[in-house]
Amino acid sequence: MIKNIIFDLGNVLLDFKPEKFLLKYSKDENYIGDFIFKVIKSKIWLNLDRGIISLERAKDKFIQKFPEERDFLVTFFEHWMEMLTPIEENVKILYDLKSNGYSIYILSNFIEEAFHFVKNQYKFLSLFDGKIISGKVRVIKPEINIYQRLIDKYNLLPDECVFIDDIQSFLTPAKKLNMKTILFLPNTDLRSELRDFGVNI
Ligand SMILES: [Mg+2]
Repeated sequence: MIKNIIFDLGNVLLDFKPEKFLLKYSKDENYIGDFIFKVIKSKIWLNLDRGIISLERAKDKFIQKFPEERDFLVTFFEHWMEMLTPIEENVKILYDLKSNGYSIYILSNFIEEAFHFVKNQYKFLSLFDGKIISGKVRVIKPEINIYQRLIDKYNLLPDECVFIDDIQSFLTPAKKLNMKTILFLPNTDLRSELRDFGVNI
């Protein structure tokens, strides 16, 4: 029987769409694509997720690396967290799961400073029974250790857990540990997928 529902944050509960967001600051889609590749898809960004570098330090490193992008980088680092806005239909599911007696958890690759930002912005982030944030524990998905951390910290039985993520490869370790998994994509009917696992929602 499923008792615990574990959520990823980015693109499951909070929108993270840099391509769309950056259109506010440039109309040049090639430029934006290039910028995302250099910044968000970089090793430095992964180190932010892993919590081994601060945002301030990362910004300086990017400016050093791409001095011609200085202004855009400064603007980006000032505003990027604003794109982290709730995916309302899934937030509604959270509240329903809670009132139906399920425990809910976060397992997310997320920069710790950004987590504090969104936690202050959005009430639903206080609803959880527990969380593992990569930036805090310094391990990232898909490393199996981060899944194990969640299981151990909250004494979960993997076969009583459903894990929801928008990245297929992040589901694999959860499956290996014997959790049920749901790939959440923009057209996924999350309620019906949960019901398929017998969840009362
Ligand atoms: Mg995600």
